[in-house]
Amino acid sequence: MSDCPFCKIASGQIQAKLLHHDEQCVAFADINPQAPFHALVIPRRHLVNLNELSTADEGLAGHLLAVAAQVARAGGVAESGWRASFNTNREGGQVIWHLHLHVLGGRQMGWPPG
Ligand code: AMP
Ligand code: ZN
Repeated sequence: MSDCPFCKIASGQIQAKLLHHDEQCVAFADINPQAPFHALVIPRRHLVNLNELSTADEGLAGHLLAVAAQVARAGGVAESGWRASFNTNREGGQVIWHLHLHVLGGRQMGWPPG
């Protein structure tokens, strides 16, 4: 997607503070952090959100979660605790239309989420 900001981060056209990259995904610091540690994990492939995910993508979905756990450990929040969130569509709070997994930590999270 030529006009997608996260495709541009994945391809290096837009700079981000990269935390992890491999052939399937990229992780980077959120530009507007909502917690002391706030990273995003995205697939390199443009998917809009979880509504587009099929059983054919199970490997990718599992990989995104494993990388989220890895960046949480590297970010020092694994022991204290962290939250992973896929915001999906308008009522899910999604504003960037490329699938991304939020990794938030470093403070007490509220429940239920807002
Ligand atoms: P969502 O509301 O789930 O769509 O979240 C989109 C997230 O992307 C927000 O937390 C933004 O701060 C973050 N974001 C948007 N543009 C960038 C960027 N260029 N680099 C890093 N994070 C970004
Ligand atoms: Zn994209």
